[in-house]
Amino acid sequence: MDMAPRKLAAGNWKMNGSLAALAEIDSLLGGDEPDCEVLICPPATLIHPMVARIAGGWIAVGGQDCHARDSGAHTGDVSAPQLVDVGADYVIVGHSERRTDHAEDDASVAAKAVAAHEAGLTSVICVGETEAQRDGDQTLKVIARQLAGSVPDCATADNTVIAYEPVWAIGTGRTPTTEQIAEVHAAMRQALVTRFGDGDAFRLLYGGSVKPGNAAEIFAIPHVDGALVGGASLMAADFGPIISALNAAD
Ligand code: PEP
Repeated sequence: MDMAPRKLAAGNWKMNGSLAALAEIDSLLGGDEPDCEVLICPPATLIHPMVARIAGGWIAVGGQDCHARDSGAHTGDVSAPQLVDVGADYVIVGHSERRTDHAEDDASVAAKAVAAHEAGLTSVICVGETEAQRDGDQTLKVIARQLAGSVPDCATADNTVIAYEPVWAIGTGRTPTTEQIAEVHAAMRQALVTRFGDGDAFRLLYGGSVKPGNAAEIFAIPHVDGALVGGASLMAADFGPIISALNAAD
């Protein structure tokens, strides 16, 4: 990977969208191809139809989670090789909604990331503090612990993206200050450089209420290499301007 990693605008559709929503893909592809990379992680039901709709175009597709095992008696789960089979290139692991709704801890997130890498997927590993942790001045400690426990030793800048997503900023319309984002991203960069030979090349995303109106300001923050976007990734009218803002960022 180049020393200046390719920026990434990633959309997380969560449990939203039906086949009709694929029209949003047509709208995005109708615009100019950006220099930055664009990823959409739809619900599992839409991965294959989305890949077919994109038909080799400039949007990559990813899963929102994968199991740590390749196959077996795990009702309702999807494995990393299954994601690859239907055309996914990425998978989000350790999103705070998975950590909360499914009691996923750092060790299980790391095991999922290993499975993703072994299958040939790039993992997007999420970390982030709760509001109580921020209020208790625990943010940097929490992020350091989550990075140490959730990012496996096999991680490289090519197979891993880190997303800093404060839990209290997800879906709330609230965002940290630019100084708070800068502080966490600088700390994450330092931790990765200390642990991995290519730590300076890992892409670091910010996620949590990124919108067209605040994207440019967020993308100007040092060590912010893109965004993981939830609600504003559902409509091309919102996600398109966020992609453009990332494309225009230095
Ligand atoms: C997310 O869930 O990853 C996210 C960042 O959501 P939103 O953009 O809606 O806050």
